[in-house]
Amino acid sequence: TETLHIVGGGMAGSEAAWQAANMGVPVVIHEMRPKVATFAHRTGDLAEMVCSNSFRSDDDEQNAVGLLHWEMRAADGLIMQAADTHRLPAGGALAVDRDPFARMVTERLRAHPNVSVKTGEIDALPASGHWIIATGPLTSEGLGRAIAAETGAEALAFFDAIAPIVHFDSIDMTRAWMQSRYDKGETEEERTAYLNCPMDRATYEAFIDALLAAPKTEFHEGETAGYFDGCLPIEVMAERGRETLRHGPMKPVGLTNPHQPDVKPWAVVQLRRDNALGTLYNIVGFQTKMKYGAQTEVLRMIPGLENARFARLGGIHRNTFLNSPTLLDAQMRLRSRPNIRFAGQITGVEGYVESAAMGLLAGRMAAAEILGAPLPAPPQDSAMGALIHHITGGAEAKTFQPMNVNFGLFRPVEGLRGGRRGRRDRYKAYTDRAKAAWRGWLAHGRLDAPQPV
Ligand code: FAD
Repeated sequence: TETLHIVGGGMAGSEAAWQAANMGVPVVIHEMRPKVATFAHRTGDLAEMVCSNSFRSDDDEQNAVGLLHWEMRAADGLIMQAADTHRLPAGGALAVDRDPFARMVTERLRAHPNVSVKTGEIDALPASGHWIIATGPLTSEGLGRAIAAETGAEALAFFDAIAPIVHFDSIDMTRAWMQSRYDKGETEEERTAYLNCPMDRATYEAFIDALLAAPKTEFHEGETAGYFDGCLPIEVMAERGRETLRHGPMKPVGLTNPHQPDVKPWAVVQLRRDNALGTLYNIVGFQTKMKYGAQTEVLRMIPGLENARFARLGGIHRNTFLNSPTLLDAQMRLRSRPNIRFAGQITGVEGYVESAAMGLLAGRMAAAEILGAPLPAPPQDSAMGALIHHITGGAEAKTFQPMNVNFGLFRPVEGLRGGRRGRRDRYKAYTDRAKAAWRGWLAHGRLDAPQPV
């Protein structure tokens, strides 16, 4: 059987290796640490958690990341086995004792008869053989250059300025309205592309005060280079002058508020549709380093967003990722070089769990291809499928940003009530539907019953 080479032994690469090896495919993991370091990793272990030690909610009925845990457990995922083994008490969240966790992943992989680990940096795109590149947000410079040369420098974002993303169904449309600036757009899709939240003068002034006062996270060493030529965080703009935002992302021009047609807003916050389903909207130009708790409070001061639920909050940090919607096919292969798959955070997902999940898929898909029985695309109704569908097709390529798994990526379940109770029912319906779909897909990957497509 041909060998599968995996570059990067992080969350994604480790899980990909485990899955492929268990399907009977020989795997070589190429990991540069500890020979070559990153600014965030501390050890030479595989699957090192670089920052928080949380896998977030473990609720597989009401939470999309909890559902992803469930799906990975159902697929015998190594990352989940290690997380469950080294779980720390944290209420409904899955917190992990990071050092024994990483040691367990490392030992299980090193002990696997089909896996070998080679220490060293890969700095070019391999021309032949089966490869998965899972080098993460801190991909080494040499490899980053090689990827940029293949995909176009534009396609590889080095600075991830993330604007917060809001669930559409949590926006108060008695205050907000849909309209493109200067009414550009003729089709229904164009008309629903933008949503506006108006501010009067007092609200704007209070918002600027809160923005200036909110606690911010610091940059890590090596993170700031290049950041000032790109997009400034809103708090930095506010520091430059109280009016700067009103002349920048919050300018109130070319828009008429149908709820109060005679009152000209002092400022307007615009949100742009973030996915084809229209379930998510990002706040235009609102990248920020405000800490998460403060960020939620400040953003809920925006009229229409008082009860906003966030699919993800804003941030800025170094993050190498591909414009996957244009570059990868539904099997996570680079369109221009189908012998290379990408997995993990470099594909534009965000977080330990999502990265491991994309590694799980890439590992299975690559192994199935090597074994001559390619797998069908994962079902869109599973959390895995919703996420891979988003990054390889569903997301808007122009504004593509790394994404956490969330129910906004799922196809709506029809016929359920609104309100809080309705939301619980809806999430339960999503997770029930997802589990059934995922079980069905896993049956394709069984070694005893490979099913060609
Ligand atoms: P990684 O886990 O980073 O693994 C990539 C591996 O590839 C690394 O081991 C690296 O050494 C190796 N590598 C890189 N280039 C090469 C090369 N050329 N050749 C060989 N090996 C190479 N996520 C969260 O869920 N919670 C957090 O709190 C959090 N905080 C973060 C803080 C920082 C500063 C950063 C940068 C990221 C943070 N993330 C966090 C995101 C986190 O990095 C990912 O969620 C996750 O680790 C990504 O998994 P991955 O497998 O894609 O990449």
